[in-house]
Formats: sequence, C-alpha cells, structure tokens
Amino acid sequence: MYNTVFTLRCKEDMSAKLFSAEGLIASRWPPFIYRCDQQELAGEVDALFKKGGVLLAEAPTGTGKTFAYLTSVLQAEQPSIISTSSHALQQQLVQRDIPQLAKILGRSCKVVELLGITNYYCPKQGGAASGEGGARQLRRRAEALHHYWLQQGEPVIPWRTLASDAGIESAQLYAHVTVSQGDCTAEKCPWYERCPYFRQRHQLTTADIAVVNHALFYSTMAPLSQSIRGRFTQVVFDEAHRLEQLAIDRSTTIFDRADLERVLAPLQRWVQGEEDGAELGQLIRRCRKLLQLLELRLQRLQPESSGDWPELCLREPRLMAVWQPWRRSFRLLLAYMRLWGLRSGRFLQAEKTLLRYQHSLSPLQPGALLWYQRRQGRLSIHSVYLQQADAITNLPQTSLFISSSLSVDGDFSAFSDTLRLEKYDFYCSQLAPGEDLRARYYLPASLPAPGMQGHIEALMTDVLPLLRHNQGRALLLFSSLDNRKIAEGWLRQYADDFNLCVASRGAISQAVAQFSRRANSLLLATGLWDGLDIPGANLSLVIIDKIPFSSPDDFRVQARSKMLNMQGRDPFVEWQLPQAILRLRQGVGRLIRADNDGGVVVIGDSRLHYQGYRQQIMAALPQYPMTSDRQVALSFIESRPSFNVATVS
Ligand code: SF4
Repeated sequence: MYNTVFTLRCKEDMSAKLFSAEGLIASRWPPFIYRCDQQELAGEVDALFKKGGVLLAEAPTGTGKTFAYLTSVLQAEQPSIISTSSHALQQQLVQRDIPQLAKILGRSCKVVELLGITNYYCPKQGGAASGEGGARQLRRRAEALHHYWLQQGEPVIPWRTLASDAGIESAQLYAHVTVSQGDCTAEKCPWYERCPYFRQRHQLTTADIAVVNHALFYSTMAPLSQSIRGRFTQVVFDEAHRLEQLAIDRSTTIFDRADLERVLAPLQRWVQGEEDGAELGQLIRRCRKLLQLLELRLQRLQPESSGDWPELCLREPRLMAVWQPWRRSFRLLLAYMRLWGLRSGRFLQAEKTLLRYQHSLSPLQPGALLWYQRRQGRLSIHSVYLQQADAITNLPQTSLFISSSLSVDGDFSAFSDTLRLEKYDFYCSQLAPGEDLRARYYLPASLPAPGMQGHIEALMTDVLPLLRHNQGRALLLFSSLDNRKIAEGWLRQYADDFNLCVASRGAISQAVAQFSRRANSLLLATGLWDGLDIPGANLSLVIIDKIPFSSPDDFRVQARSKMLNMQGRDPFVEWQLPQAILRLRQGVGRLIRADNDGGVVVIGDSRLHYQGYRQQIMAALPQYPMTSDRQVALSFIESRPSFNVATVS
C-alpha cells in the first residue's frame, strides 16, 4: 500500500538482516509482519547513526517506526536519548518496546526513564507540609505519605504511584508534596542526596538509553551539565511533530497580574516582619499601584483587545508615562533584594522572575515582539520570539526527528523553520501514487462557512444519518471548545441513540475508555487530533468540523504573523496554512491505525469547495476518493462488511 517517494540513501545491509521477511526479527518474533517501508526506514536510521547529522523522517502510521529506530538505538555504541511526546509513550517504550526488541536482538542495556521534577516526591516539601500550615486533612495525608516514603526505604517512584501504593488519596496533595524546577534549591537542599528526582537524574550518568519527554528535553535535558549530556551522542525525537507547538509555546514569556503577585507576596511577608523594610514596602505598593494605573488608563483608552505594546505606548503618551517608571520599579526591587540578601529559598523564584521581566519586557529585544492582551480590564504582556530558545539547536551529533506528519507533501520547511534546523537530510515515505480505497472523504456541499451562525448545527444534521448507519463508532474533532459544546448540546437530543463520550480536560482517558467499551458511542474532542490510537472497527468514522487554522484571536498568531510580515514573508502561506495542513493530517490519521482499518472522514468546511488552497490541502492528505454526495458515503459504509459487525459490546 505504501512506498517511498523520497529516499536520499538506501542502505539495506543491517535493515535486511533484521527486517526482511526471513530476517532476525521474523525468525525470533512470530507476530512480526514484513513491511518494505519499515525495512527502508530502518536502513535510513542506521545510515544516520553511522554517519551523524540530522534526519527528518516521515512515515505513515502502521510502518513500525518505533522498531525501525530502536534497532539502531540498541545497537549504538554510545548512549542515546529518546524523547517522546507524553508520559504514556515514555512508559510504553520503557515497559514494552525496548525490552521486547532488546530480547529479540539479544542485547542488554540500562534504560532510565526521567520525568519532570513535579512528578517526584519532594521530601523537603512533603516533610514541611506534614509539620505546619494548610488544612488539617491535607496535613495528615502529607504526613502519612512522608512516613510511608521513609518506611519503604525512600523509593524513587512518581509521587502519585507512591500515594496509590500507600492507599492515600492524592487529590489536592500535589502542591504539598512536589516542587517546581524554579523552587527547588537542588544542591543547597538538605534532602538533596536522598531526593528521588535527583537520584533518578543521577542514573543518567550510567544509562545506555535515557527516555524523556519533549517538554523535559527542553527544560531539563538541554541545560544539563556537559558531564551528563555529553555522554549522549544520539537523540531520537519520536512524535516529533509535537515539538513545533512546544517550540512556539516556549517562545513566549508572559507577564500578568498573577505572575507579579507571585513575586511580590514573599517580599511583602518579609517586609512585615522587618523593622528596616519600610522602603521596600513602599516600592511594593508603588509597583502594584502603577500596574493598577496602567490597567485603568488602558480601560479608558479602549484600544484593540490585543496588539503591539510598544506601538501603543508610542501612540498614547499617557501609557508611556506609567510604563517606564513601572519597568524601572523591577530594577529597584532587584536592587533591594540584593541589598538585603534576599536571594535564596522562597526569594529565588522571585529573583528569577524579576530578571526575566527585565530581559523580556524590554521593547528593544532583537527578534522579539511585545504583545499585549486586555481581558476583563486586566492587562497581560507577552514577549513573543520568532525563534525559540537555543535549546533545540544545541543537539547531539546525531539527531533523528520522526513522525507520521512532519511535512506538507514532502516539504519539511514549516517544521524545520519553527525549530530552526538549518542543515538536515530528510526521508519521506508516503502513500503510494493512486488512491487508497480503504476510506472515503465526504465533504458536505452546502454547509455555512465555519464561524457563521448555524455551521455546527448544520454539520451535525448532515452527518446524523452517517452516525446512525455506522452505529456510532465516530470521533468528532473540533477546532474550538465552543464548537464542541454546540455539537454536544445538539447531540443531547439523541441521547437515547448514542452514548456521548466527551473528552474534556482532565477526563480524556475516561472518555476514550468509555468510547472503546460501549456500543453506539461518539467521542467528542478538541484535543485528540493526534495521540489517539483506536485500531479496528471501533472507530470507523472521523468527523472534523473545519480546517484547523490557528485562531486569529490568539496573540501568538497575531504577533508571529506581524513578525513574518516585517521580514517580508507571507504568514498565511509560510506558516498558518502548513500548520493547519499538518494538524488536519493528524486528525484524518486517526481513522486508519492498522492495515485492515477503513471508514469515512467528513470535513465540514465549505472552503474546501472553493478556496484556492483547497488543492494544496487535499494533495497533502491521504489519497482517499472524495465525494460530496452523502448517499455515496452511506453506501460505502454499508458496502464494507466489517462495518456491519459491531465489535463493541
Ligand atoms: S532537592 Fe529539590 S526536589 Fe529534591 S527534596 Fe530538595 S527541594 Fe525537593
């Protein structure tokens, strides 16, 4: 079904030995199915590991990407880092994939899984919480957890696992038993030698394979000391498409009232118990007052709800008159903190934040824009960088970025631009030329345009017969929470026909589990464009509300668009459209997760009938036959025998 359309190198030696139909894996592992493109991908990764460099590799779901790169990782002479997009995928690698393949290959290796610091029990925080402050109930639970941890020999496990092993309710305990990176005092902490997080981190000094997630790679692995990081000469970014959003999010630092309060509150507490703290107290009051004044003036001026902050200040001298002394007050606060030696423990984070303000709230930063947002009278200011922090560019000598959706029709520039990857090779295994007959696109012809009144209701009315014919088993993907809520409200009238599983924040895994278990289920989600893997007939209809362009109200979109404009580039063509195509591909990709899967993908966006970019979008998606006739889609559902067998019970 698939073949390779772009291949830079084709090394068959190692990959043939392992991945051919008569190869080592087939001989030792009966479930193995030979796939030509898996063998080819493994050959590309092998060549990369031998030669070094950066490879961007794209291969469709079902290729067997994990084994294709793990063979090189397991056979490498130097230690490797594998970074993936979530904790669940880290666990899958550590508990299933790596041990399974290591056994097949007869290799033994030390694998260390590292999570973010807030996943581990912090004995300093937990010990203190058990002694003082907080609600009595919480104190008791924190105390019980602390004793249990000591009693069990101070294990290195995630604190939630510890709490569950101890039979302690974990709700609301988080803040009392964990600590953020910024608040951890590391070597200065009396618990440092016994600290679960640092003991686990220390394991990296002897690991053959470190398994981390992307957020952790940015925040912890990249800035790690050379003695640890220098050991790892290869890195694999699995599910690499997730790095883009992370890079964009990380390129934004935020200032708002709550953020400032986190700085001022510990200083205020210190001032209250200090006879000589009057001047600092005055400065804190001034800082708050200036922010109030700034918000008040902004309210009177009523400018756009968001925009370029320095530009607005230049236009409105009354804002500038407050903005400048307000920024100066941060410098003064820092000077006072240093004068009084307020530089450790609870003041550490305040100092870091003030330094960040000094740096990021300067309007003269090259490559950055200051963007303001006004919501319910509150001001927030965002420093938006076009290019993200250097961390991702400071890569080991061999770096593999792998995913099922990194390119737009073989063009990787949107991805490489966001991550500032300048020199790289690429490998792209895509659908074979010609149509894939396992699925159909249904593009309803007469829906209102997205964003128009009644769009979602009309889409739901249109797809109702498909939902019925398919006995549910549908994933409904929405590009906004509002759209999901409208659909949910509309579908409630058919609550007797369908079991609605709403993947709301914090309840995603329950919704997915419920969807997979019960007949006639519909899974409604905004956040499952990728990462959802339901193979088989339980999911055979995917309904997408619209082309998932980033919201024009998002300040990051506005700021980055302006920046690209300033560079003479077209933000829509060069950034927004490729981003939307990649996301749409991920959404469409939820349908076919295994060779025998199939079904219908509905895209409820009338722009696909007339906009100039429609061809670019459809060319980048899996090539299924397309129809705007609902009857054709219904007939297709009926024609597939597996569709008529409900495998759910
Ligand atoms: S080193 Fe950091 S994480 Fe560990 S116990 Fe101390 S404060 Fe907590």
